[in-house]
Parts: sequence; structure tokens; C-alpha cells
Amino acid sequence: MTDTQAPNAGLRQRLGVLTSGGDAQGMNAALRAIIRTGIERGLDVYAIYEGYQGMVEGGPRIRQMNWDSVGGILHKGGTVIGTARSDAFRTREGRRQAAKNLLEHGIDRLVVIGGDGSLTGANLFRQEWGSLLAELAELGEISQETAAAHPYLLIVGLVGSIDNDFYGTDMTIGADSALHRITEAVDAITSTAASHQRTFVVKVMGRNCGYLAMMGALASSADWVLIPENPPAVDNWQDVMCERLRAGRKAGRRDSIVILAEGARDRNGKTIGSSDVQRVLEEKLGEDVRTTVLGHVQRGGAPSAYDRILGTLMGYGAVEAILQAKPEDEPALIGIKGNRITRTPLMECVNKTHAVADAIAAKDYDRAMELRTNSFKDSWRTLMTFVRALPRPAPEDQKHFRIGVLNAGAPAPGMNAATRAAVRLGIDKGHTMFGISNGFQGLADCEVRPMDWMSVSGWVSTGGSNLGTSRMVPKGSQLYSIARTIENNHLQALLIIGGWPAYEAAYKLYTERENFPSFNIPMVCLPASINNNLPGSDFSVGADTALNSIVEAVDKVKQSAVAARRVFVVEVMGHYCGYLALMGALATGAERAYLNEEGVSIHDLTRDVDDLLRGFKSGKRLGLMIRNEYANPVYTTPFISALFEEESKGLFDVRQTILGHLQQGGDPSPFDRIQATRLARLCVDFLSEECNHDSQRSAYIGLEAGQIHFHDMQDFPRVIDAKRLRPRNQWWMDISKVAKILAQPGPSWQNPEEKA
Ligand code: ADP
Repeated sequence: MTDTQAPNAGLRQRLGVLTSGGDAQGMNAALRAIIRTGIERGLDVYAIYEGYQGMVEGGPRIRQMNWDSVGGILHKGGTVIGTARSDAFRTREGRRQAAKNLLEHGIDRLVVIGGDGSLTGANLFRQEWGSLLAELAELGEISQETAAAHPYLLIVGLVGSIDNDFYGTDMTIGADSALHRITEAVDAITSTAASHQRTFVVKVMGRNCGYLAMMGALASSADWVLIPENPPAVDNWQDVMCERLRAGRKAGRRDSIVILAEGARDRNGKTIGSSDVQRVLEEKLGEDVRTTVLGHVQRGGAPSAYDRILGTLMGYGAVEAILQAKPEDEPALIGIKGNRITRTPLMECVNKTHAVADAIAAKDYDRAMELRTNSFKDSWRTLMTFVRALPRPAPEDQKHFRIGVLNAGAPAPGMNAATRAAVRLGIDKGHTMFGISNGFQGLADCEVRPMDWMSVSGWVSTGGSNLGTSRMVPKGSQLYSIARTIENNHLQALLIIGGWPAYEAAYKLYTERENFPSFNIPMVCLPASINNNLPGSDFSVGADTALNSIVEAVDKVKQSAVAARRVFVVEVMGHYCGYLALMGALATGAERAYLNEEGVSIHDLTRDVDDLLRGFKSGKRLGLMIRNEYANPVYTTPFISALFEEESKGLFDVRQTILGHLQQGGDPSPFDRIQATRLARLCVDFLSEECNHDSQRSAYIGLEAGQIHFHDMQDFPRVIDAKRLRPRNQWWMDISKVAKILAQPGPSWQNPEEKA
């Protein structure tokens, strides 16, 4: 009998975690969250190295983790515990061996991070667990007592997959980072293609899912897209594609970019490869065509801010689910829907995921698209408008209106993408679109110009505000000037893209309607501010880019300290809104986020000094605190830095870093481009609808918990904290507790005797 189970097994619950199948950026964030949350909740947590292969091999492949084992890994791509494909685990014998190896450590709870294959394997393993243990006991490999002590295997799954191909979650871990790589590549290709007036074919990943190709195209200025779920409707798609590209050139485009997913096919199910597309384009357009196959670059590189946060929240959610799981429960898949962490029965998700692949294989493309989410379908429709060389002929049976678009407040990355989308989608509906320069100042100064389809060409990828923006909130005679501009240009609706001053100004116009009849037109505000401090919306356009800029800057700042014992106090923007500080802390592993919402007291600072001293005495080498710019008027960044330095007594030194305007600049992230485009489309629909009904409704749009709402402008003062320029309720404040758990000093630093 070789029952090697640890003698004290059973005293504490033991959780194993593994990454399996293809790697994805953000898996490390999930690991860190699972291991630290597990330890904090009193579990013993084991990492199973090299996926199921490590589980079958056992021995050093299964190792207990401590708090510090997962320090300094958030910024790393891939998975630090390795992943593998395992043929052995596909056999019953292999799974029996895997069960035995888990029992050697008393592990009967598992979090599996992988794709559909890995999660299918996990479910099978769970179903077989009882019989595998019976066999092991019969063979004398484990004792009957051991088998009886572990009657169930509890499983929770997380999807790590860059393809975003999974039912049950809006996003999979890694998809956002892959989209970053694709967008960076297509932006770079666009600039060289435009210089030479060339045509490029770009192939991206996605065997059964066109998400990356479609979103990559929406976030760049691609001109044609081929995805598995929705092949070209006609057999002579080659002619249609070339005709479109030719028309685009005629309309003034300097480049043509075709993006195709690796699973692209025609209606008959015949694969369309990048070389097929290249050949067709060369033959029919008579042009030199270049192909770029992005390949594994998409899996590589540092995870985006979103993937770090997603991995962290899913990892935290997985441990909560394991702790609450009952043996009779179906295993759960942890997903994110409408920005909230969810649990869905694992196998239902796996089966529905397979259903899409089956529909594609059966050439039932209608069904494949039907199985996709509404936002996928919406994005596809929007993309089909954008890839047009020119707008469709204006529909005659519909009324057309004169719509003004302006940017207001500080520049936010993605404002141009929103303006471009509004202009093109408005023109496509037959409206006349006007660009207003320099925000409400420009409206007062009558800086209004008509915008045509090509006037916004290339705007999707540029930061700043091409229209020009200002912070002016009109008053007094400025209101007269604005009224005159609206009347003189016969503007019938206004789309206001911007931050706090944009909302204030729109509200001002709304409240002055009695005095200025020309303000009685529908108006809508689209949230665009890096601060993410606007009411009615979970995310404002620009915040994701700013967060990525913060994360990239902090990664560099941390690297600069490799040789010293140092604490950084990093100050980020946000006005009185702590979103960037909290999410920045979560994504960089900072131990502290100072927020205005939570306040900062001398008691907090004393505790932070004590934690730092204890940490550095126990071998810590780097400290990171992130402070919102208005966290506290007295405990400023220089104050906190000086306090830490003084109290460190030479144990560590302190540097302050004020990130400043780099947070407002930069090319917009793919998420901001996509969000800007989506919101702009909805705003144009809203204004068209209101104009059609002779309504003068004024509203601000927002996406809350995945739902689109248009909030009446009259609600604005009721939902805001006017003194602190932020909404009264901020959904993300709940996440503060996760940040606090994960960032606390490890137990060994809290109680040095535990270090052994
Ligand atoms: P992904 O999880 O990314 O879909 P794979 O399909 O390659 O990747 O699966 C990863 C590993 O999960 C496989 O190498 C195998 O060990 C295990 N696995 C996949 N499918 C099954 C299955 N039906 N039964 C048992 N194990 C499986």
C-alpha cells in the first residue's frame, strides 16, 4: 500500500489551481488572485505546473504556494506555472493517476483556467472522481479512509482564451490583450500602407470565432473583413470585395486593409486563406499586395490593464465559488457579464460554445450568428457600414436632419473615434452632419462646418480631439451666441462628446430652454473622459486608455527599482474620482490606493508606515502606493513621500512619481475605440428617433451593467455629487475590497514568526 497522503490532510481545505490549453495574457493575474484569496480565506493552495500533464506526473509538479510565490507576476504574459496539452489525461488511466497525485496532497478542489477542451476534461474528471477513487482503493494505491475522506471533487472553471470564443462570459481572459496586439499591428501597417498606397491582408487568430477579426477591424480602419460565423453572402465574394476596395480608393482612401480570421471560409465551407485573398487582390486589382500573419504575437506581451483586472476579479470570484460550492452543484464557470462577475453552469457554457462550432461546420451560418451575443451582432452591422467606401444613398422614405457634433471638456482618447462614427453613421442615415470646433466656445463663435464621409478618415486611431475641445460652460451672453449659431445653421440636434464640463454645459442649455427657444432640440451627451466620473455610465471613453498608460508607466517605474529598496508613491489623475487610482492599483499590484471616496487619515498613514517597515524588514524590496490627485488636500503626494522617507530610518528610500498628462494622451485603446463607436451609433439612433418624433428630449447615454440607458437630462443634478464632480453611486467601489485583500502584506510580514 502506497498511501502517501500528508498526515494532516483534511484539517484544512486544499485547493489546486492549473492553467491548461493555450496560454493567454492575464492568466497570471487570475493565479495571483486565486492563490492569495485562497490563503486569505484559510485554504491551502497548490499550483499544478504544466496543466493536466503535471497533474498526471505529480511529484514536483504539484507545489504548495504561499503569499509571495505570486508576487511580481501581474505584468507577465503567459502563465508562470506553465501549460501543456496532455494526451495522458485524455485516458482513464492518466486521470486515475492524476487523482492519486492530487490525493497525495489532500486536494479535492480545483480551479481550472483554460479553454473548452480543458474545461470539458475537468468536468469529465469530476464525474469520474468517485469511480477513480474506488479503483485506486481496489488497487491498493490509496486507503479506503482516504477515498472516503474525499468523496467529491469540486471544480470551478475560468476561461483563458485570446479568441473570446466562450459562451457564458462577455470576455475571456486574454482577448483584450490580443486585441491590443492586433490594433497596434494594424495601426502600424496602415501607416506604411498609406505611404505606398498599398493593399494589405492581415490574418488574425480565431478558428471558430470572428471576434478578434471583427473587433480588430472596428478598432482600426480596415476595409474588408472575413469571419467564420458569417461568410460572404455571395459566391462571387471576390468580385464584391475588389469592387469595394476599388471604390474606397476612388473615394480617396490611400490604403486598403483586409482582415481575416484564421477560420474564415466561404458559404460552401471552403477555407479562405490569406494567400487566397492575396492572389485574388493581386489578380483583380493589379496591385502589389502584402500579407501579415500575426500568429503568436497575439498571445504574447504584457497583459492589458483590462485583462489584469478581469483575471483578478475572476480569480477572486472562483475562490468564493469554491468556498460556497456544494457537492451536488454543477461545476460553475466564472464569467463577466455587463461588467459584473457571474457564475453559470460550466457544461451548459461548454455545450453552447460547441454549438457555434457545430453550426459553422454544418454551414448553418444563420444559426452561428444567432448564437452570438447581441453586441456581437450589433458590432457586425456597424462594421458593415464602416467598410463601405461611401454612404448608402439617403433613404427617401425617411426624414433627414441637421445634426451638430462637438467635443467638450479635456481631450480624451477615443473622442475622435466617437466623432468619426457619429459623422459616418449619421451621413449613412441621410442626415447632414456638422462638426463644431472647440466645444461650446466654438458653438458660441459659430465655428461650424459640414463634415463628409472622408473628412473623418483615419480618425478612429488618433488620440486627442481633432475637432478641438474646450472646457467652457456657457453663461450670460455666450448663451445668446450659442442660440444664434444653432438658429443660423438650422441645427436640429446636438451630440455632445465629452467629460464633466460637457455635461454641465448641456444641462445649462437644457435649463435655459425657456429663455432660448432654439435650445429646444434633442441633445445627447456621450461620456468621454479619462476620469470615468460621469453619471449613468460604467465606463467613459478614454478611461481604458488612461488606465493602460498608467499600467505601462508603473511597470517601467517598478523596473527602475530593481537594485534598491524603494517605495514609489505614484499620483494619478481622476479629479475627485478614484477610479484610475483603484483600478491602477489593482492592475499593477500596488499595496495601497488612496482615494478621495475613502478618505485618508493619519491613522491610515501610520498603519501604512508600519506595514512598510515590517515588509522591508522581512525582505521586501519594492513598495508601490497609488494616490488619486485629490485624495486629500493635506496629505499630498509630497507629504506622504516625505513621511515615509522620514519614518523609513534608512530602511528604504521613497520616490514620488506624478504621471501627469501622459494619462490624457496616446492613441486610444481598442476598448475605447469600440466603446466610442458603439455609443456614437446609439446616440445617432437616439437623435434620429427624437427628431423624427418632434421630441426635444435631452439625455446622457450610458452603459450600466451591460444595459444601455438614456437618462433624462433633468436627472443630472440628482445623481451627482456636484462638489466632488462625480456620480453619487460608483459601481466600482465594490472592487475596493478585492484590491485590499490582494495587496495586503503577506501573512509572513504580518506575523514574522509565520515566515518559516
Ligand atoms: P483548450 O483548453 O485551450 O481548449 P485543448 O483542447 O488542447 O485546449 O485542451 C487542453 C487539455 O485538456 C488537453 O491536452 C487534454 O489534456 C485536456 N482535455 C481536453 N479535452 C478533453 C477531454 N474531452 N477529456 C479529457 N481531457 C481533455
